[in-house]
Amino acid sequence: MTPILHEQARAARDEVFGRNVFVRGVVEVSSFCRQNCHYCAMRRDNRLLDRYRLKADELADLIIHRRPAAITDIDIQAGEDPVAVREVVLPLVRELRKRTNLGITLCLGTLSPFEYDQLREAGGDYYVIKIETGNAEHFQSIGAPGTLDKRVNAIRYLANSGWKVSSGFIVGLPGQRPSHIDQTLELLSQLPLAGCSVSPFVAGVDTPFVGAPCGDINRTLDCVAEMRLASPQWIIPAVSAMSLVSNDGYVRAFNAGANLATINLTPDAVRADYPIYKRDRIVMDEDRVLSSIEAAGCEVSRVGIADYLKNLLPTQRVAASAPLPESVTN
Ligand code: SF4
Repeated sequence: MTPILHEQARAARDEVFGRNVFVRGVVEVSSFCRQNCHYCAMRRDNRLLDRYRLKADELADLIIHRRPAAITDIDIQAGEDPVAVREVVLPLVRELRKRTNLGITLCLGTLSPFEYDQLREAGGDYYVIKIETGNAEHFQSIGAPGTLDKRVNAIRYLANSGWKVSSGFIVGLPGQRPSHIDQTLELLSQLPLAGCSVSPFVAGVDTPFVGAPCGDINRTLDCVAEMRLASPQWIIPAVSAMSLVSNDGYVRAFNAGANLATINLTPDAVRADYPIYKRDRIVMDEDRVLSSIEAAGCEVSRVGIADYLKNLLPTQRVAASAPLPESVTN
């Protein structure tokens, strides 16, 4: 770990966003997936997993009436499941758009342009589509969806059609060389992104990578800092895998320049069947998230991600150096 790097990154974050951390809620609406990524237990070949698809009306009730007050945006996540897109996500997004001012983030995998457009028309603001690695051969070797080129083209399509886009990658994936990380950071810096994440690798149960060592937390946090310095205006999350590999990893992410936290709202009854990493995953509930933000000397942003990005001037999108615009702090 490089303390000076983290200090510089924190200062760069503070210059653009102050000490404000965006807080979103995530609902994991379906664990069906047509893809077969070697690093993920939701891969289609994992027959040991009980799959579920939640109901749009129950999710709407949960989000509208029972979300923690700090949440300004909602992240609707699923395996790559076109049925869930059609039957759960589209009606849910329309309902939330009608009945709330929440920003709407979607993380649903690689879909068709028609599906992206439908979701955008329904009211989606921010689409998360991770590249996982920026090296094309490495991408193939981990069984990630399609090809790296296709993934990058999807990012460009989304950005050109009005979405704000976030991507992400994993440190410590089997087969990753140090040069792959540099290559990934370089590629990400050239894409039309509003945000990006980095997670330490955690081997999923019932995957071909089971038993592989975890990604290095210090290298992961250095990547947070490097991304912040290269792209000061990005929205960069602290992620739950950081807590999994290191007790204080989540708090340290804020100290390295992160500015987004996510509270998990997925109903308890199905949470174990959405096995990010493993079934007894660390769940970032409201208390854990809010106390981590406080421990890092930060505070909860009163402005949501979607509102913040909507109100940025075009020049701030490429070289943000100002505090939150007044129009979005009121
Ligand atoms: S990473 Fe996403 S696309 Fe790949 S298997 Fe898991 S849920 Fe499916």
